[in-house]
Amino acid sequence: MRIAIGQLWQETNTLNPLATTRADFEEFGICRGNELVEQMTNVNELGGFIQSMRAWAQPPEIVGLVRLPAWPSGMATSECFDWIRNEFFDAVDAAGPVDAFLLALHGAMVAQGHPDVEGAILQELRERVGPDVPIVATLDLHTNVTREMAAAADVLVMYHSMPHVDIFETGQRGAEALRRVLFEGARPTTAFCKIPAIVPAENSNTEADAGIAVDLKRRVVELEANPIVLAAGIAPVQPWMDIPQLGSSVIVTTDNDAEAARAACVSVAEEFWRRKREYMPQLYSAEDAVRLGHAASGLAVLSDAADATTSGAPGDSVWILKELLKCRWPREALVTVVAPEVVERCESIAIGTELTVRLGGVRDSRFGTIVELNAIVEHCFDARFTMTGHIGKNMPIEMGRSVVLRHDSNTFVIVTTRSGPHFAPEFFRSAGFEPFEASLVVAKSPCGFRAVYENHASAIYSVKAPGCAPSDFWNYTFNNIPRPLSPWDEIVEWSPAPNILIK
Ligand SMILES: [Zn+2]
Repeated sequence: MRIAIGQLWQETNTLNPLATTRADFEEFGICRGNELVEQMTNVNELGGFIQSMRAWAQPPEIVGLVRLPAWPSGMATSECFDWIRNEFFDAVDAAGPVDAFLLALHGAMVAQGHPDVEGAILQELRERVGPDVPIVATLDLHTNVTREMAAAADVLVMYHSMPHVDIFETGQRGAEALRRVLFEGARPTTAFCKIPAIVPAENSNTEADAGIAVDLKRRVVELEANPIVLAAGIAPVQPWMDIPQLGSSVIVTTDNDAEAARAACVSVAEEFWRRKREYMPQLYSAEDAVRLGHAASGLAVLSDAADATTSGAPGDSVWILKELLKCRWPREALVTVVAPEVVERCESIAIGTELTVRLGGVRDSRFGTIVELNAIVEHCFDARFTMTGHIGKNMPIEMGRSVVLRHDSNTFVIVTTRSGPHFAPEFFRSAGFEPFEASLVVAKSPCGFRAVYENHASAIYSVKAPGCAPSDFWNYTFNNIPRPLSPWDEIVEWSPAPNILIK
């Protein structure tokens, strides 16, 4: 038996004006064929696929297609879409006949003229291979599942956790669903419900002690423990996509039991709909958050959701930095900015030089602001590390040449060439800091940072600042979303039952 595996990974944020291009994928790290299987054996979903299949009673030949990953950013160009499509189907052609496809997709990628990139790829793959070759795909919890995706794939398997600490395990669950289809004759029967509601990310912590996200995760995990269920997932979609099918989703796939799939899908969707207001977070102004963080005794973490690089924001917001500069900090206050032009300038200056730099408002000139920072060039470094935790297991990250700037004695601005996980402890350590011992860390992440910081922080504040990934997204202009859509619109009556698609 031959099984083809591949990956397309990018989360698109259409409020970010920076277009995603082929170069972004090439910089992040493409691999193909056998190289994919060798390099990804212990990394993310692909690692889960590979290790699971190698443990099957009859291990298949694993055929590497192509891995196409890019860091979350703005809408991809139409040329980028054409290139991705060609890369993917050239790899499919080169692989020759296979017995199944097992694909690691994000599920929220948008390109110019292609609002549903994964749906388009899955649809074309289905057309090419016909109805009898199983296609199983994994998806991020922030996927925007579309009718096309649900129709083209046999099973869609989503992350259950936010922070995304179950990526490798989701790969294993995808492989297990495929094994049941191939070896046990399971017949995937899917119920899919699109919910006309979008929710902010802050309160989506499935690993908290209690709350809506915890309860919904428990529901889908319990469903998957039932032998009749091949996969169950709920996706509170990532909100910053101005596209026609935007909406949250529930999807349940059983082994040939349409009524069980329907009943489970209705029940989970109903609970999400009824409790959706519980996702609304408590937010602080940058001024208040910095004041409270300054008063905290241990580590204070300020979540800058609106500039979350994990949400596809540009990473050069300095709204919080502006406030940090008004305080003197007993230990380090750490904040990050993406500014390749500043890194380049600092690389040509001697370490220890005092200079004035303009930061902010370059990559995002619509919502950003600018600060003139007097600082000392502390040191330059390569932001290169392997991260494990939210978003990745053993995931190699390369953010390019970077520089540490110091203002006063303890305010440090870490400036990188490229975007990346501007919250990860591994990132701060690559810059020479131990974030858990700092006075304050600005995490450019709405919720995922909690996986590592919650046990170390004495205080966490979610900041409301302008940016491309705002918590109050319904106050920003969206022209293409379906209406009515909560919370843009107050929808008085809606129920899942008439909105279930069965396949
Ligand atoms: Zn996600």
